Amino acid sequence: MRLLVTGGAGFIGSNFVRRIIDGTFPGIGHVTVLDKLTYAGTLKNLEMLPKNSFEFIKGDISDSGLVDELSKRHDAIINFAAESHVDRSITGARDFIETNVLGVQNLLAAALTNEVKTFVQISTDEVYGTISKGSWSEEFPLLPNSPYSASKASADLICRSYHRTFGMDVRVTRCSNNYGPYQFPEKVIPLFITNLIENKKVPLYGKGLNVRDWLHVDDHCQGIFAVLTAGKPGNIYNIGGGRELTNRELTNLILEKFGRDESSIEYVADRLGHDLRYSVSHEKITQELGYQPKVRFEDGLEQTIEWYKNNESWWRPLKK
Ligand code: NAD
Repeated sequence: MRLLVTGGAGFIGSNFVRRIIDGTFPGIGHVTVLDKLTYAGTLKNLEMLPKNSFEFIKGDISDSGLVDELSKRHDAIINFAAESHVDRSITGARDFIETNVLGVQNLLAAALTNEVKTFVQISTDEVYGTISKGSWSEEFPLLPNSPYSASKASADLICRSYHRTFGMDVRVTRCSNNYGPYQFPEKVIPLFITNLIENKKVPLYGKGLNVRDWLHVDDHCQGIFAVLTAGKPGNIYNIGGGRELTNRELTNLILEKFGRDESSIEYVADRLGHDLRYSVSHEKITQELGYQPKVRFEDGLEQTIEWYKNNESWWRPLKK
């Protein structure tokens, strides 16, 4: 299979590419990474890979000519490319619409014209909104609350339309909050870890009562590979980690690993429109594709902390 990975220089996409090259995900003959290298993407996430083990192209998923040319020579596309930080979507939503909506439609159109066999869109559980009890299945309505999640939900609907209208093999994954090495230090876990390494306090939104399900990036990528290789056309698959924590519980677990207490927390004004709870059911992908999250949260957190301690040269320039 010749695979085009868009957004493959970011946190999750680069993890997926590293797992192909190290043989964890077999059967991919050729990998091309297309990435715009925004503030969130860096070639440092791929520089440890052997030369010539993949092809890299710097470019935008909204560039029709480029995406058309690339679609001609690939069998499948996985789209990780996105503006991905909710806070940034609150201060300026335009880039989110351009990349997450128009960019996805541009990719789908090129894939359709050039008969790309399979298209996997990486989405998010945030498209479902917020849930006070129980967990979302893939049948739940889309009720996004932030400009970020609204842009992702829009892309999900456009994906659906390309399947229903043109019969394209489009598959959508909706995952919970990822964590692990190489995550840009604006997201909560790497922000808190790096602040503590720098002997700073950690900023906690509101009362810290928002609940998130945590998914190790290796588990997420394992689920995506299952969807790419064995998923069904037109289907949506939730991918969760099965570990829900309030932000305050999460913060205390991180503080504990650094031998610090709650005096290192700085409570800050809550995020506008902050969803209270996300909870995703991954029953479908478990039953149909045998997916199971393998990384215990405490172990994954410890490994992630060690990685940030040992890779200051990666994150310090990004935090400036
Ligand atoms: P990220 O911000 O780390 O990486 C995004 C990558 O996309 C970057 O390398 C960036 O340069 C690239 N990019 C952005 N705009 C582009 C464009 N127009 N053309 C080409 N490349 C472009 O994001 P991530 O955390 O790796 O997330 C990957 C995907 O997973 C996203 O679609 C995101 O919505 C989704 N997701 C992430 C999480 C999470 O917890 N990180 C949770 C749910 C869903």
